[in-house]
Amino acid sequence: MHTRDAVFLEDLCPKLRVRRWRQSIHTCTGKSCIYCGKPSESIDHVVPLSRGGLSITENCVPACLSCNGDKSDFDAFDWYRRQRFYDPRRAMAIRAWIDGDLRLALRLLQWAQPTTINNPKEKEIKEHSDQKENGEDWAYLAA
Ligand SMILES: [Zn+2]
Repeated sequence: MHTRDAVFLEDLCPKLRVRRWRQSIHTCTGKSCIYCGKPSESIDHVVPLSRGGLSITENCVPACLSCNGDKSDFDAFDWYRRQRFYDPRRAMAIRAWIDGDLRLALRLLQWAQPTTINNPKEKEIKEHSDQKENGEDWAYLAA
């Protein structure tokens, strides 16, 4: 496992707002890795920083250290398809996530892993999409 490859956003930006934003990403999926469903311990850039990926919600997904380190700088979808825990519903969820459709992403994740993710309220998610700057509000999503 290459934990040194994991991206901890506090290291990139110590602002509290970013910390909250990071937490909100984990909370969104019930603190589970978007790839394999294990506990998420890091934020993975779908498009790696080294390939010009940005630290924005649409490019940052909750991931366990194992997936994050293993994926490294590979294209997320190419890498994910090769994993034995590959689940097409999760792949679709990642697509939806990077398209900014968090509501669809959570639905797909819920489908793939019904026990982990609380039933998100559509209204709250929709409200979030109108105010992406405020990570604090997003934290209520999975509450
Ligand atoms: Zn994982």
